[in-house]
Amino acid sequence: MIRVNHHNGVIAYKMGRSLGPYVPYMTHAFQIGRTLIDTGTRFAEREFLGALAGSVKSIINTHHHEDHIGNNNAIQKKFGSEIIAHPLAMKYIIDPKTIPLKPYQKAVWGRPLPSKAAPAGDSINTEDCRFQVIHCTGHCDDHICLYEPDKKWLFSGDMFCGIRNIYLRKDETFPKQLESLRKLAALDIDVIFCAMKGVVTGRKHALTEKIDFMEKLRDTAIEMNRKGRSVKEITRRLLGFEDMMWAITMGHFSKKNLIESIIGSPV
Ligand SMILES: [Zn+2]
Repeated sequence: MIRVNHHNGVIAYKMGRSLGPYVPYMTHAFQIGRTLIDTGTRFAEREFLGALAGSVKSIINTHHHEDHIGNNNAIQKKFGSEIIAHPLAMKYIIDPKTIPLKPYQKAVWGRPLPSKAAPAGDSINTEDCRFQVIHCTGHCDDHICLYEPDKKWLFSGDMFCGIRNIYLRKDETFPKQLESLRKLAALDIDVIFCAMKGVVTGRKHALTEKIDFMEKLRDTAIEMNRKGRSVKEITRRLLGFEDMMWAITMGHFSKKNLIESIIGSPV
């Protein structure tokens, strides 16, 4: 399934795997002229390639996750596109079999096919944009965000994903996320192009609001931990019981992961 939206010269492709009438966990890729930022899920290959506006000269991957590099292979094959990503993402893009995928990830997004890629430097100039490349850890080590200072655009990959995020992947790090978000919040941003939320406009201070939410959660959790409360207790008190997210991902995403990452180690 694919939906296409336009915003000031940026095309947003929202896509996901159709399971009957249900399309779980959709993701976005963005196109500016002949440049694509991320390529979505392999399960939407036919629709995505059919919807693309013209040829693709360059692909920039924000990180190696399977819902961001899913159509690298198909697009590179069709257009001979160059692919650029963080140096640490090279091994996964070149050989996606090395990406450790859980069953839910294989079912929802699929395993990408191999493609050729080259490492990004501190900036990427395309035909339409001059991107500053901002290395942002916390989601994964090879994540980059792209900032276009003249247009005040931020392509945030999976670093924003809404303000009140109450789950954490087992391999994510809360303090590193906070550090990365502070770097991004210092930029003058008008529009966030988020892989999960799509085009985020009219929220000049969205990143600051997210940081405030995270800092308050962190301070409260640490204080409760200092008073001897267990991770389980803190999780339930601050975030509620685990839900479908925990069940579907078999604990890969959970509220407990978030509190554990704040506190540093289980108590
Ligand atoms: Zn990701």
